[in-house]
Amino acid sequence: MPAELIDGKQIAAGVRAAVTRDVEAFAQEFGGARPGLATILVGDDPGSAIYVAGKQKACKEVGMQGFNFPLAAATPRVEVVELIERLNADPDVSGILLQLPVPEPLDGVELTGMIDPRKDVDGLTAISAGLLAQGREGLRPCTPQGVMALLDAAGAQLEGAEAVVVGRSNLFGKPMAQLLLGANATVTTCHSRTRDLAGVCRRADILIAAVGRARMVQADWVKPGATVIDVGMNRTEDGLAGDVDFDAVKEVAAAITPVPGGVGPMTIAFLLRNTLKAARLQRPAAAVA
Ligand code: NAP
Repeated sequence: MPAELIDGKQIAAGVRAAVTRDVEAFAQEFGGARPGLATILVGDDPGSAIYVAGKQKACKEVGMQGFNFPLAAATPRVEVVELIERLNADPDVSGILLQLPVPEPLDGVELTGMIDPRKDVDGLTAISAGLLAQGREGLRPCTPQGVMALLDAAGAQLEGAEAVVVGRSNLFGKPMAQLLLGANATVTTCHSRTRDLAGVCRRADILIAAVGRARMVQADWVKPGATVIDVGMNRTEDGLAGDVDFDAVKEVAAAITPVPGGVGPMTIAFLLRNTLKAARLQRPAAAVA
């Protein structure tokens, strides 16, 4: 029997609707103040410009403020640093997102590290990563949070389950493994040096692929009845493809995300959720949403 399709578009719409309600409640509680997201876009990469425009549009749709700071590709490091420091100190700015990658010679890791951890809505600073590793309250990267929400919506049982994450990036693979561990799964992280990758994947009750290689995960890598989450976004001659061979794997898995329409829509939904959470973290008297 073909797998159940996990509809990321619909689940993300539900998250956005909840954020819209919570933003209204925030504004009522704090005299009309609204959470605000500042995006910094350095250079003129068209793909990055589309991503940033999408994030700004999404902010307005949920009733948040959006501030975009486009900078020329040749902007000196010191000017980017000054902008981050100014935004760190601005009470109207709840969250700061530096769109990555930044053009050379700028260092995206260094610059991201200068964002106030309470405004780190991408969850990429060393403080945010450390808080996650220790299981303490903090801002988590958006895409792994989105995957947790998809697993929840699909009714996946995480406690005691074998979870395999293919990919170990700071942006996705590592925080994904931490979140699964926090949910009491038994977690294996794979990467380019993993021996017998197919064999390790076959053990998984929950299989998550975030590699960047079109249709790498084959049907015979998947345990019958597994839940398969495809994070990959690869541009191919026949359009956008995930890291999972969807048509074959859907005949083996119990549930699977499509590409597009699976993980992708969840990322912006959780950026909005993080911006609201950041706004609350900056109001010490209030509870975190
Ligand atoms: P990344 O930083 O390039 O990391 C890729 C990971 O895959 C690395 O850990 C690498 O291992 C591993 N890998 C590469 N080739 C492999 C192989 N043959 N076998 C096993 N592992 C292999 O990428 P990323 O930022 O995590 O993104 C991964 C994919 O997810 C991309 O397609 C990206 O576009 C997509 N993505 C989508 C969203 C979304 O919102 N939908 C968000 C984030 C990422 P090593 O560490 O050993 O090099």
